[in-house]
Amino acid sequence: MTPISSLCVYCGSSRGSNPAFAALATELGREMAARGVRLIYGGGRVGLMGICADAVMAGGGEVIGVIPQHLQDREVGHTGLTELKVVDNMHTRKRMMFDYSDAFCVLPGGLGTLEELFEVVTWRQLGIHDKPIIVLNADGYWDRLVAMIDGIIEDGFAQPAVRQFFSVANSVGRLFDLLASPPDTQERDYPERL
Ligand code: AMP
Repeated sequence: MTPISSLCVYCGSSRGSNPAFAALATELGREMAARGVRLIYGGGRVGLMGICADAVMAGGGEVIGVIPQHLQDREVGHTGLTELKVVDNMHTRKRMMFDYSDAFCVLPGGLGTLEELFEVVTWRQLGIHDKPIIVLNADGYWDRLVAMIDGIIEDGFAQPAVRQFFSVANSVGRLFDLLASPPDTQERDYPERL
């Protein structure tokens, strides 16, 4: 059984150029509905965001979207969700999404998705939370990110322990396996200096 009730999904407000990205967003949404896992996301109906939310709703699941007023027009707030919360600004949005979620999943996306990923990873690095963070890879999309982080560690700008604060899953099945038994982050071994 999946021991979480709400999963935050960060993903692109675009669909991306590879059809595998949309297929993965659909598969994730379907599986969340089937497992009774509520989707927490940015509330848009465009791109992978909308595709994932549609799949959860179509499967009879629950979706809570959180969108700032100024993005309602640009990202087109989804009107068919269980609940759409319209908030004042991006900070409130991200904080609310964080508070409502038991874990985080990152689908392919752009700069906004990266910003959201790095925020929850750096918050975890600082000990602000210990919620699982799983990067869901599609056709190797996130391989470059992992390589970049490995390079940052190699060049001495981050500790190797940073790699323990998120996991990479190559399938939706693996994502749920990781959520069911998150790897030991061995935070006790984390050096005093960040
Ligand atoms: P993107 O990956 O750029 O398509 O954006 C995905 C999501 O991230 C969208 O909901 C954006 O509103 C959000 N986003 C974009 N830029 C930022 C930012 N600077 N900080 C936080 N979220 C952002």
